[in-house]
Amino acid sequence: MPTAIEIFRLLPKKNCGKCNYPTCLAFAMQIANSKAKLQDCPFLSEEALSTLAASAAPPIHLVKFGAGSKVIEMGDETELYRHEKRFFHPTAYALTISDSLDEPDIARKLETISRIRFDRVGQILSFDAIAIKDESSNADKFKAAAEAVASRTELPILLVSRSPEIMRGAARAIAERRPLLYGADASNFADMATVAKDLKCPLVVSEGKGLNELADLVQKVKASGIEDIVLDLGAGSLKQLLERSSIVRKVSVKKTFRGLGHPILVDAGSGEAAVLKGLLATMKYGSIVLFDELSEAHALPLFVLRQNIYTDPQVPIQVKPGIYPVNAPNGDSPILFTTNFSLTYFTVLSDVEKSKVPIWLLVVDTEGLSVMTAYSAGKLTPESVNAGLEASGAREKSKKGEIIIPGMVSRMSGKLSEVTGLKVIVGPKESSGIPKFLKNH
Ligand code: SF4
Repeated sequence: MPTAIEIFRLLPKKNCGKCNYPTCLAFAMQIANSKAKLQDCPFLSEEALSTLAASAAPPIHLVKFGAGSKVIEMGDETELYRHEKRFFHPTAYALTISDSLDEPDIARKLETISRIRFDRVGQILSFDAIAIKDESSNADKFKAAAEAVASRTELPILLVSRSPEIMRGAARAIAERRPLLYGADASNFADMATVAKDLKCPLVVSEGKGLNELADLVQKVKASGIEDIVLDLGAGSLKQLLERSSIVRKVSVKKTFRGLGHPILVDAGSGEAAVLKGLLATMKYGSIVLFDELSEAHALPLFVLRQNIYTDPQVPIQVKPGIYPVNAPNGDSPILFTTNFSLTYFTVLSDVEKSKVPIWLLVVDTEGLSVMTAYSAGKLTPESVNAGLEASGAREKSKKGEIIIPGMVSRMSGKLSEVTGLKVIVGPKESSGIPKFLKNH
């Protein structure tokens, strides 16, 4: 991305404000921060537009596959380290299905895959795609497996075969699902690129010899008119994967070397080694990882790691403010409040559930901050709690006239009682104390 000054040099310098910014320099600064579009300036020459568009293109090409509401986006990343801004597209996980399975077995495997899902801090963590592997070397079987999978799941599909002929039949059969074709290598790239181009599918390019050789191969595939390319770095060991993926990201983002500016696919295989490869790929720039198998026990830490890495650090995960019934409360049940920071909410919810005491749980809007942070920042005040009570209709639900507050904000109890007219009961400082407190109360 060019700097604001480099962008400014190419602007018309009329300072007319038609772009909704008072000066061309202000507009240039917004463009540099990806907060405005070049098209917003009606006076930009064609030449300047194409020059700026080319240099402002993301260093890692955006590649999509899948169709309808189930599309996986990969690439379009701009940072080497998450703390510099954020990572945008979480690593996708795909489980493979062999084309040597018959249809009932394919259905059973898809059913098993769909059952591996976890609800964590209000987000569903699950597999993102299905990869169909050509293990039979039979075009009819591969096509039949692709059709069987496509008819049973809406998840995006990868087709894995090194035979352009076998690939063409299956890819054509499910072309409307825009599968990712895996893929091209030094021996088949010309024919495989033709299949991808004819069917408008993205293509994985593999080269295990080294990154120079991979960049050369990518260049040749691009020359045949394919832009939507995903890289298979051919890394056998964890060390090789770490080195190659780090170099690819660094030269793409820091040097804007577009020859390797594409998302990375990692074929992790099976067993313990696959789990380690999956973890490393998640931490180091993998856009999609294929597993031959993955147990629930191994999937959970992997999914959680991904969730942590790809959560925007500047935007806390939030739950919707409101009043939530826990343990079947009625009009005689008290209100207990917490903040809408997701981790706080789910911790408190779990502890209230454990107590088995009926409670109206009031979630106060603190812009996703935890109790002490929100209190210190002035976002958790007697007035904001009262606003939460009013907006949620909590007083209509609970007639008890009591509100339990976190022990850490006990100093607001006097003012809160004054503002709300409710009897304030100071609860425990830590959420873990809630079950004992509620039972005794
Ligand atoms: Fe400058 Fe174009 Fe904005 Fe006018 S519309 S202020 S010329 S950038």
